[in-house]
Amino acid sequence: MEALLSALRELLGSAHVLTPDADDLSAYEQDWRKRGRGRALAVLRPASTPQVAAVVKLCALAKASGQAVSIVPQGGNTGLVLGSIPDASGAQIVLSLSRMNQVRQIDAANAAITVEAGCLLAHVQQAADDAGLLFPLSLAAEGTCTIGGNLGTNAGGTQVLRYGNTRDLCLGIEWVNAAGEVVQGLSGLRKDNTGYDLRHLLIGSEGTLGIITAATLKLFPKPVARVTAWAQVPGLAAAVQLLGLAQAQLASGLTGFELMNAFSLDVVMKQSPQLRVPFASAVRAGDACFVLLELSDFESEAHARQRFEALVETALERGCIEDAVIAESIAQSKAMWHLRESIPMAQAQEGPNIKHDISLPISHIPEFCEQTDTLLRKAIPHIRLVNFGHLGDGNLHYNVQCPPGASAAAFLVEHEGHINTAVYEQVAKFGGSFSAEHGVGQLKVAELSRYKSPAALAAMQSIKQAMDPQNLFNPGRVLAL
Ligand SMILES: Cc1cc2nc3c(=O)[nH]c(=O)nc-3n(C[C@H](O)[C@H](O)[C@H](O)COP(=O)(O)OP(=O)(O)OC[C@H]3O[C@@H](n4cnc5c(N)ncnc54)[C@H](O)[C@@H]3O)c2cc1C
Repeated sequence: MEALLSALRELLGSAHVLTPDADDLSAYEQDWRKRGRGRALAVLRPASTPQVAAVVKLCALAKASGQAVSIVPQGGNTGLVLGSIPDASGAQIVLSLSRMNQVRQIDAANAAITVEAGCLLAHVQQAADDAGLLFPLSLAAEGTCTIGGNLGTNAGGTQVLRYGNTRDLCLGIEWVNAAGEVVQGLSGLRKDNTGYDLRHLLIGSEGTLGIITAATLKLFPKPVARVTAWAQVPGLAAAVQLLGLAQAQLASGLTGFELMNAFSLDVVMKQSPQLRVPFASAVRAGDACFVLLELSDFESEAHARQRFEALVETALERGCIEDAVIAESIAQSKAMWHLRESIPMAQAQEGPNIKHDISLPISHIPEFCEQTDTLLRKAIPHIRLVNFGHLGDGNLHYNVQCPPGASAAAFLVEHEGHINTAVYEQVAKFGGSFSAEHGVGQLKVAELSRYKSPAALAAMQSIKQAMDPQNLFNPGRVLAL
């Protein structure tokens, strides 16, 4: 590998080829949840698309001559399924896109922005905002995650209900294939039926088919006001009823509908006691669910509030909410979102837990939770369920925390396998998906083999073999190849 490393140093400059003997690689080798740490041969930090292409060419040549090298594309390394860190072999090169972070162009008349793959999501949002437009993708990791990673995982987030997943926000991509060729597809076109749409193969492929170097993304008119409300609901069936009502009354104005069970907020209150949680006594009592609703309005803040008030009135009459508060200011709206977004971090601080990022037909969610909660509590008394997520998209983060006082590490060793099987079997029974938005990575390869049909799996394997015959990109992720 020494010859390869010196060719890479010559190409990128020594400062951008980090190696374990000379540099601290922990930020690139360790995943966000601290579930795994790999060992990289090197971390590369190219500055341009031609450099990425040249890196791939060098690695492809080395691989063809018998070296075990492979490439792991990495953006912000906030992925939750061990897709962006190297394995333990010491033969994988992490290709960090972090230096490729420029906004290339904003075309306001075409409502499109072209950015490099390493651009932080928060920077794309800001650039759109500066141009008087909206880039709606939004998730709690937006200050760290990158557009390349968002596209690689087809990230969802909190605005999917109105604007769709990252896939729906992408007009075109520029990418590097396994031969080291640049495939130009940075089209700002909204219609282009010219054969197979390779962009959609790359999106959600988790770095296994090619390296995305830039993307053209859709922008939208900026709402005049975004107002949030926080509702206490008697249970999940009522939350689903409230969703139907909100969709009927607010139509496309409803841009967020987030569910939080009492325990998920209890954990936030414990970890961040300075935060004010609405209906805190009901949270402590543990017998209700809570919903954060967001309304985007193109008239005025007052108009948004009136529409929310009308919704709350109907919902109270129909018994699907017990109480509600409408944010009085932007600061209050932000504070409500902050509570929702604090859950993953608070849960991590509470200790290791067993995470499930599942999706289900919304109509089946109450019954799924009732059955699965009972099943798990019967098997392991006193376990605690952190259940929150994007209910408007049928997406739950259905996470399992050990009983109070138990050792979380021992709990994981003893129960993780059984709990995963129980939850995913239930998900399959209700027609859901074992991975709604986080992807497959290294963590859920076995589940993909189990729950995808053999015909679909065979098609995926054929695509991978055709596009990356040497298995150069992210081997062992998504597919067991
Ligand atoms: C606090 C927190 C909240 C989150 N909330 C959400 C949420 O609401 N919705 C959601 O969907 N996800 C969420 N995530 C998961 C994660 O943030 C997203 O998956 C994000 O899109 C990953 O972006 P990244 O730049 O960090 O990618 P990375 O973690 O670096 O990589 C993710 C995957 O994409 C591949 N990849 C990265 N860059 C490229 C590229 N340029 N070309 C090809 N492949 C590439 C990697 O190889 C890897 O397989 C959350 C994560 C955290 C930590």
